[in-house]
Amino acid sequence: VTSLCRRHAVGKHSRPKKSIGAMKPTYKKPPPDEPRRHPAGGPGRHVPGLDLIRLRAEQVQAVYEASGLGLFANLMSATALLLVVQGQPVSPLVLSVWYLAMWLLVAVRWLTYRRYLRALDPADASRYWGRLAILGAAASGLLWGLVPVLLWPADGLLQQAAIVIILTGMTAGAANTLAPLMPAALSFLGLSLPPLIVRLLLEFDPVFTLLGILVAIYTVMLVMVSRRTNRLVGSAFASRYQKELSDARVLEQAHYDELTKLPNRRLLQDRLQQEFSRARRYRRRLAVHFLDLDNFKTINDSLGHQVGDLLLIEVARRLQGRLRGEDVAARLGGDEFVVLQTDLSRGEEAAQRTAETLANDIRRLLVAPYLIQGHELHISTSIGIAVFPDDGETPEDVLKHADAAMYKAKEQGRNRVQFFLPSMQEAATQRVRLMRELRDAMRENQLVIHYQPQVDGEGGLHGLEALVRWNRPGHGLVMPQDFIAVAEESGLMFELHDWLLGQVCQDIRSMQDAFGEDGFPLVSVNISPKEFHRTDLRDRLERVLRQAGIAPRCLRLEITEGTAMDHVEEVIPQMEAVRALGVTFSIDDFGTGYSSLAYLKRLPVDTLKIDRSFVRDILTDPNDALLAETIISLAHLMGIETVAEGVEDEAVLGFLKQKGCDYFQGWLFGRPEPLGTLWPRLRPPSSNVELVS
Ligand code: C2E
Ligand code: MG
Ligand code: MG
Repeated sequence: VTSLCRRHAVGKHSRPKKSIGAMKPTYKKPPPDEPRRHPAGGPGRHVPGLDLIRLRAEQVQAVYEASGLGLFANLMSATALLLVVQGQPVSPLVLSVWYLAMWLLVAVRWLTYRRYLRALDPADASRYWGRLAILGAAASGLLWGLVPVLLWPADGLLQQAAIVIILTGMTAGAANTLAPLMPAALSFLGLSLPPLIVRLLLEFDPVFTLLGILVAIYTVMLVMVSRRTNRLVGSAFASRYQKELSDARVLEQAHYDELTKLPNRRLLQDRLQQEFSRARRYRRRLAVHFLDLDNFKTINDSLGHQVGDLLLIEVARRLQGRLRGEDVAARLGGDEFVVLQTDLSRGEEAAQRTAETLANDIRRLLVAPYLIQGHELHISTSIGIAVFPDDGETPEDVLKHADAAMYKAKEQGRNRVQFFLPSMQEAATQRVRLMRELRDAMRENQLVIHYQPQVDGEGGLHGLEALVRWNRPGHGLVMPQDFIAVAEESGLMFELHDWLLGQVCQDIRSMQDAFGEDGFPLVSVNISPKEFHRTDLRDRLERVLRQAGIAPRCLRLEITEGTAMDHVEEVIPQMEAVRALGVTFSIDDFGTGYSSLAYLKRLPVDTLKIDRSFVRDILTDPNDALLAETIISLAHLMGIETVAEGVEDEAVLGFLKQKGCDYFQGWLFGRPEPLGTLWPRLRPPSSNVELVS
């Protein structure tokens, strides 16, 4: 028993396990609609029914493995019996036939064992092989059961004792070797020993009767021992199976993304190494596609992580459905995926065409609407492609370049496919440097705020717009459009805004200290769309206002038209909370997006800022003039005030005034400048001093 258990517990097999024990990660792609199967132990495998089938296969295998020894014992015992019975009053013909039958049976069982060893799918057909094993055991039991009936030496006491010993010894061995498969053990014991018991009882001799009873007790004990062995072997199989499962799970966790079940970064790297060596050997090209979902974070933040997760799972499913078996889709984390397209043709152009076709197919596939928890979601994907060996020799370079191309695709408006170009690498390197330097800049107080005045129709100061600049050593004053995007991307934006709001409130405080509290000045601060991803916007504002000791009505937040309209459901509650505090809102760059009037009506805004691009051409382009005029009337109808941005000359000012625009901002009244230099020209509105630049 112990030897059987040990052998199986350590998983030493006479032949490799098929499928069940295969722990090496496989990349075989399932058909699109079928849930992905995992290497042993993956979620799809842990089916209770499957465990039973597997247990049965293990039991059958254990019986077959022990059958060599069992058959040998059969032959030895049969030969011993032949010698014992020889010369007794037993028909030689019956003896010979019995002996021959035993040899024949052993031969058949041996051949069956050999066939089993050679079978391709013994585990899958374990029911069939199990039946054959039971049949063999039963036939053997029957032959041994015939001994007390046909070969019983009527007079030879010694011979009779020898037969009892041979039969009980035989069955003891069989009870052990057949125990893994209980029906086999039971059929052997049930057919071999009862005839002996009957024979002993029929002798009607007290000694024989006693012996018969002993053999009966012995039979029951053998059955019990077999059952116990059977359970022991079963639990040894089960614990080994558990271990295999947990090993496989560990392996899976190390190589597969838990959420989407796609290969993770680590497995992708292995595969890249393999495929790059193969491509190098066979001089083939391969493409790495770097995918990033556009605005995934918004969905995640507005609808919750659960919806985000389900969306990622669906994206992974669609991706897998499109790829060939030899291509690999992996998830790098977040909303980033990589597709490795292998075996492209040798020609550069043909390879690029094939890669582009796949990328566009994927892009179209992923842009189709998703229905998740009752939400119809739309999400696009930006894809960057880099090709080996044209865009890099090593997996790291090609992956990095595909990433840079993806970044470019985003910059160019998202939902597009972009091949890597060498110039992109330079841009990517610069971006990384800029990010690092900006981080230092904030620590070293290199950021400064400039204020630009906003005036009313009479030229009286209405408010100021705070605009950030970076005093970058060696580069002079860097304008926001050159670093705001990097700040947003790197997450520095929040830090920047916290600093900015604090600083602006301090500046308002010092202006109020100098000029009095009466409603002046109203300072506008631009905030990034990302601020609306933070749920504590209102609380933070309240805190900085309290710290500076200024009234909330002194502060106005400018959000761009795009931000407000793109995520209106998410933005409105936050805006309302902030507005309840007393801080007002302005829609910046109005006219550049395509706002829905219905939404505009719902937004709690106080001012619309007409974008500089319309104001600039207002006198030369009738369309711009009409648009500016329409914006002004529309805003007034809704009770919203208007500010024109970028007013550079008197003629433009005159036109805008005539159309009813309320306030004006532009070089005509002053460029953005530090508070210190602006200071002499600041006066409270009551004094109505004209601002002249
Ligand atoms: P914006 O909010 O539309 O700011 C107005 C921009 O127009 C400013 O550019 C200003 O200098 C410029 N401008 C004002 N009057 C005139 C004019 O008469 N002619 C011309 N040609 N330009 C004029 P700036 O300071 O370079 O800012 C650019 C953009 O950067 C801002 O556009 C704003 O969207 C963003 N920005 C600036 N500071 C911040 C900030 O602290 N946070 C965030 N998130 N964005 C900021
Ligand atoms: Mg602005
Ligand atoms: Mg603007």
